[in-house]
Amino acid sequence: MQIDPSHPRFKSLKIREKLVWGIKKGLTHPAGLLAHGRGEAFDYLLGEKTHDFAKKAIEAAGAYLISAKNPIISVNGNTSALCPNELVGLAKLLNCKIEVNLFHYSKKRVVIIENYLSRVDSKVILRSNKSSKIIFPDIASWRKIMLKEGIASADVVFVPLEDGDRAEALIRLGKKVITVDLNPLSRTAQTATVTIIDNLIRLLPLLIKKIKKLKMVDADNLKSLTINYNNKTCLNNSLKLISDRLKKSG
Ligand code: ATP
Ligand code: MG
Repeated sequence: MQIDPSHPRFKSLKIREKLVWGIKKGLTHPAGLLAHGRGEAFDYLLGEKTHDFAKKAIEAAGAYLISAKNPIISVNGNTSALCPNELVGLAKLLNCKIEVNLFHYSKKRVVIIENYLSRVDSKVILRSNKSSKIIFPDIASWRKIMLKEGIASADVVFVPLEDGDRAEALIRLGKKVITVDLNPLSRTAQTATVTIIDNLIRLLPLLIKKIKKLKMVDADNLKSLTINYNNKTCLNNSLKLISDRLKKSG
């Protein structure tokens, strides 16, 4: 569909179109539209802006990812369709791999996503057929599949749009979980080590920029950025902002 750039919701409509395109290409599952809709509703309440609590979380996320021994980026159908270049750019910057992990799993869709991201740069894609699979205990969904050389051996997992139960399982395994979620009330947001309450599309370029800067910071200062970060405070600040905005418009 041709969207008129003068439409007041142009940006948001373009993103929707991209996901519809992702479904046609077999990258995105139709249920991804519902997940996106939930995100859009919260983005509306947040005023579609990157707030200070998100900037704080981006800084902590950057510090965790740079300090990690073995970071990994976990992607799904929505994130791959929306931000392929930024996800690959982030992996290159961190010198780490991207692993496809799906709630609505099919081998076919995993390969379609791997191929799609490989078109940007194949070197950063961890191919599911080239790494042995490990099944997470206690996870009811297909997100239980993890690759031995990927999520299974990672110490820090960057996973935008995660599911609550897997976030909890990753934490139980002793991993640090960096997530992106517009909903501060989701189980994922409440469980993660660092929750960036922002739209993935807005924040990825900011995270990349921040990591480039943090690469110049020494290990001790990176450590203090992670130690001094308080995820609960960021979540509370985001809820307060939403509540203040609602009160003002009431
Ligand atoms: P949980 O399992 O953590 O309780 P959930 O079941 O509420 O989460 P899911 O349907 O599993 O949510 O995943 C969708 C989540 O992703 C939603 O919380 C939504 O806010 C978020 N989301 C969707 N699109 C974006 C986006 N572009 N940027 C950031 N977050 C997004
Ligand atoms: Mg969920």
